[in-house]
Amino acid sequence: MGNYVYNNVLLKLSGEALLGELPFGIDDRMIKKISIEVKQIWEMGVSVSIVIGGGNIFRGIKGASHGMDRASADYMGMLATVINGLALQDSLEKLDVPTRVISAIEMRQISEPYIRRRALRHLEKGRVVIFVAGTGNPYFTTDTAAALRAMEMGAQVLLKATKVDGIYDQDPMVYKNAKLIEKITYIQVLDQNLKVMDSTAISMCMEYKLPIIVLNINKEGILKSTIEGKQVGTLVS
Ligand code: UDP
Repeated sequence: MGNYVYNNVLLKLSGEALLGELPFGIDDRMIKKISIEVKQIWEMGVSVSIVIGGGNIFRGIKGASHGMDRASADYMGMLATVINGLALQDSLEKLDVPTRVISAIEMRQISEPYIRRRALRHLEKGRVVIFVAGTGNPYFTTDTAAALRAMEMGAQVLLKATKVDGIYDQDPMVYKNAKLIEKITYIQVLDQNLKVMDSTAISMCMEYKLPIIVLNINKEGILKSTIEGKQVGTLVS
């Protein structure tokens, strides 16, 4: 294993990261691009766990807003993450990266059930682990699942992939002069209600002192630069 700043990372990919230019679903080019980024750090010997979201397909809150029972809608959202996880596994394995999909809701035909020690063993054996179905509980998000799994896998950092370079002082999609913040505290993120990750996830990371790096997954070589300790995105610590 190389001597990098981070040798064990958890990458949180939102469903939106898979959208590319599409309004819905999975963009093949985007998923391949992300897989190439992951492969690059996996080849460097870094332990990589991934928690994948489902927002490109279904979000519980959307179902609930149309009158669905919230818990049922959330289960649908969790199933959406499984679809994304299988797509990501396929893409990574096409690049010869061994992966395991591990689900918080049992679906033995297509994934392994979540057993912490077994997941750790996969990492030790050099497999990329893709966690799907969030925490397995309604009323949570995959951001919280990411914080939880990062701690369980002993990750040194949670890498939150987004479409922008990091956290800005104002919305960069709206304000051209928005400034990128290089470093910020958990409390500032919570106080200023910055939409980085949901507050449960941020609070968990704060409680257990797990740093978060918010980065732009569309930038080539971004994960490699991150594990080498270069200044990328925004560090929340
Ligand atoms: N979800 C859930 N419990 C979890 C994780 C996810 O109920 O532990 C549901 C929730 O409905 C959520 C959907 O799955 O809206 C998709 O996850 P998320 O919104 O976190 O995906 P992302 O925004 O990362 O694409």
